[in-house]
Amino acid sequence: MDNQKFDSELCPSDRRAAGLYVHIPFCEAKCRYCGFYSEPIKNHAPQRLVSAIIRELGQYDHIEAFQTVYIGGGSPSCLPAEQLLRLIREITSHWPKPEEFTIEVNPGQVNKSILSRLRTAGVTRISIGAQSFNSDELNFLGRRHSVGDIGRAVEMARRAGFENIGLDLIFAIPPSTSLPSTMLGTGRASDSTLDSWKYSLRSAIDLDVQHISAYALTYEEGTPLQKAVEAGEVAPVDEEIDRQMYETTIDELEKAGFKQYEISNFARPGFECKHNLNYWRNLPYIGVGPAAGSYWNGKRTLNIADVKKYIDAIEQETTVTDESETPDNTQIACETAVLNLRRRCGIILDEFENQTGFDAMKLFTEPIGRYRELGLIEATDGRLFLTRDALPIADSVLCDFSTT
Ligand code: SF4
Repeated sequence: MDNQKFDSELCPSDRRAAGLYVHIPFCEAKCRYCGFYSEPIKNHAPQRLVSAIIRELGQYDHIEAFQTVYIGGGSPSCLPAEQLLRLIREITSHWPKPEEFTIEVNPGQVNKSILSRLRTAGVTRISIGAQSFNSDELNFLGRRHSVGDIGRAVEMARRAGFENIGLDLIFAIPPSTSLPSTMLGTGRASDSTLDSWKYSLRSAIDLDVQHISAYALTYEEGTPLQKAVEAGEVAPVDEEIDRQMYETTIDELEKAGFKQYEISNFARPGFECKHNLNYWRNLPYIGVGPAAGSYWNGKRTLNIADVKKYIDAIEQETTVTDESETPDNTQIACETAVLNLRRRCGIILDEFENQTGFDAMKLFTEPIGRYRELGLIEATDGRLFLTRDALPIADSVLCDFSTT
């Protein structure tokens, strides 16, 4: 893609209305690798949380429209159907027909009936947390669904009328032969993680979905998985294999007709996630629910990451904001650059200057010069973008754009 003319519809230049993100911090049980804030739903009363979120949404009544709505988690699909639909009805009664309305679902938590009701209620896009098509890997990760559930969920979603279905996958999962028996279910071993990853990719492609996200497994502080690594029970995948898996992902998905539009995201043309594209453009958005972040009126805020305290704050009509910062103009420019560079189209120089007031080529002269010499960044056709060689080490390159 580096030398191809950039497909402008992936990164439209106009500023649009904000996105709305709703965070449902409930899961059936905690997965071993998960560092997100979420709590087992059985410890809480879901209707109280939904009522609190609806009250928080009321603070944004003055916003006329959201271009996109995204309900994520946690596992929104572990909410009782009536509560989930109540929340969706509330959103669509205030902000009808967003261009894209996504909900994340766990493949083991959906059936024909709820998927049809979600579609009828106005949800347009389903993002399914598949993670792997290898049952040992699912067990290792602590996922509660089976490989068969993934295909069934895709098929049911399609029958319910969804034409925009995405799968999330994880690569660089340690080979099951190296895992302690307590982390395995069936005991069936796969010899090669690269082969196993290719199998997962192929299975996802064969399901004929419109969008695939692929992230490397990370070892988040305090998770059981990270503790197992520290105890020497699990060995992370070798960096070279991790890189091969990522390269394979790009090659296989492009061969199958997907376009890589962000470091970890691939879509069939026209099915890029609009909600996330706005995020990578650093446009304002509202987040509601425990632990949700917002970028609104020039401020970045974070809600309380505690279900009980969040509900109490809403019910007592005190603030749910736990952290708040107002980035200055240079910080905004750096944040915008780092987010824009995640896209394959990179920074659109005109758009960047209109949005931040800075000329990116001047603001980042030093790292641009250095990475151009190394062949990791290119500047052509009014864009500054990472080359394919830079993608596997994108995080370290982007780090040099995070300050000036
Ligand atoms: S389902 Fe998702 S949010 Fe919930 S524990 Fe697992 S990885 Fe974390």
